[in-house]
Amino acid sequence: MKVNHNALQLEENYLFSEVARRLKAFQQQNPDRTLLKCSIGDVTLPLPSVITDALKQASEEMHHAETFHGYGAEQGELFLRQAIANYYSKRNLTINPDDVFVSDGAKSDLGNLCDLFDSDNTVLLPNPVYPVYYDTNKMAGRRVEFLNGTKENGFLAMPDSSQHADIIYLCSPNNPTGAVYSKEQLTEWVNYALDQKAIILFDAAYEAYIRDDSLPHSIYEISGAEYCAIEINSLSKMAGFTGVRCGWTIVPETLVLDGASLHHMWFRRMATKYNATSYIIQRGAEAVFTPEGQKAVKADVNYYMENAHILKKALQTAGIFTTGGDNAPYIWMECPDNLDSWEFFDKLLSMYAIAGTPGVGFGTSGQGWLRFSSFGTRETILSASELLAKL
Ligand SMILES: *Cc1c(COP(=O)(O)O)cnc(C)c1O
Repeated sequence: MKVNHNALQLEENYLFSEVARRLKAFQQQNPDRTLLKCSIGDVTLPLPSVITDALKQASEEMHHAETFHGYGAEQGELFLRQAIANYYSKRNLTINPDDVFVSDGAKSDLGNLCDLFDSDNTVLLPNPVYPVYYDTNKMAGRRVEFLNGTKENGFLAMPDSSQHADIIYLCSPNNPTGAVYSKEQLTEWVNYALDQKAIILFDAAYEAYIRDDSLPHSIYEISGAEYCAIEINSLSKMAGFTGVRCGWTIVPETLVLDGASLHHMWFRRMATKYNATSYIIQRGAEAVFTPEGQKAVKADVNYYMENAHILKKALQTAGIFTTGGDNAPYIWMECPDNLDSWEFFDKLLSMYAIAGTPGVGFGTSGQGWLRFSSFGTRETILSASELLAKL
């Protein structure tokens, strides 16, 4: 027996465990100080009743012979795929429900999509970014190259036609920088991918946080994307589903690369390794897309975005350079006095009892930066902002 030696090559990701360890030590040493947690990468508001009512009702259906559900369609039930396709019409996009694949979340899909590609491919990743893209490709033994985000490019790196890529990951709005690509920038990316005969994997997990109407919510707002892009999305951040688990991936029928239909390959992959998302969860997800569901989840997103606005304003008052916060729940700040990410993390913690997330944990280009999340309570955000404004 030989293990997957590529999997052994994964470096330990210390980021969240190390943040947790330092916060715990701080609380033990300072039991009377209130920790202001602006490091949370998870939603905190409870689910609205329109969603939990749908979950309860679907559970009840399972109790009666006439309405009981066993195995479902691996791709997801048509009622939900149709609701997801309709969701795109708000951006005047026509998505075929047959191109929508329902899953238990974006992280699984991002990892599972690796099954479609040979190990002999060059992967291009933004730096800094969500660490899942790097780890899943290293596990599959692929070459990874980085595109560096900088203060100068506003953490929105653009393609370089002299650099070859086969698989390109884009995350917009970006985790951790909160930066969002414009339509013109994404058009450049789509043209680059078509030119390279490469594929774009577009992670739209924070799409619902975009406030500026001119910014694209979906890669399919760019013409030509239907020939070079797969889009991954999730209800986790849009509807508070991080613990419920439901996401989707769009693989258009028009996507044919290296002589193969990626749509058919993904369909076959789902049918082979997945037995569909829970019926109960799919009914809860369907409720998100009803008018009442949309109203409720948008109220929660607005709450988080008001938090982001308060935090961002405080940092601006202090004269600190930031990205994000306007169209994303994350604010990315440059550490003052040339401190590195962990030095500033420690300083902020000891001086103000504020917790952020060290930017270097998301990639080497994150060194010297810190991520603030707006997923905390308003009370925490207001207390932290008052202190941050005096930085
Ligand atoms: C949170 C997050 C996701 C969502 O993952 P789920 O598995 O659906 O919870 C995907 N991409 C990014 C960049 C994220 O930050």
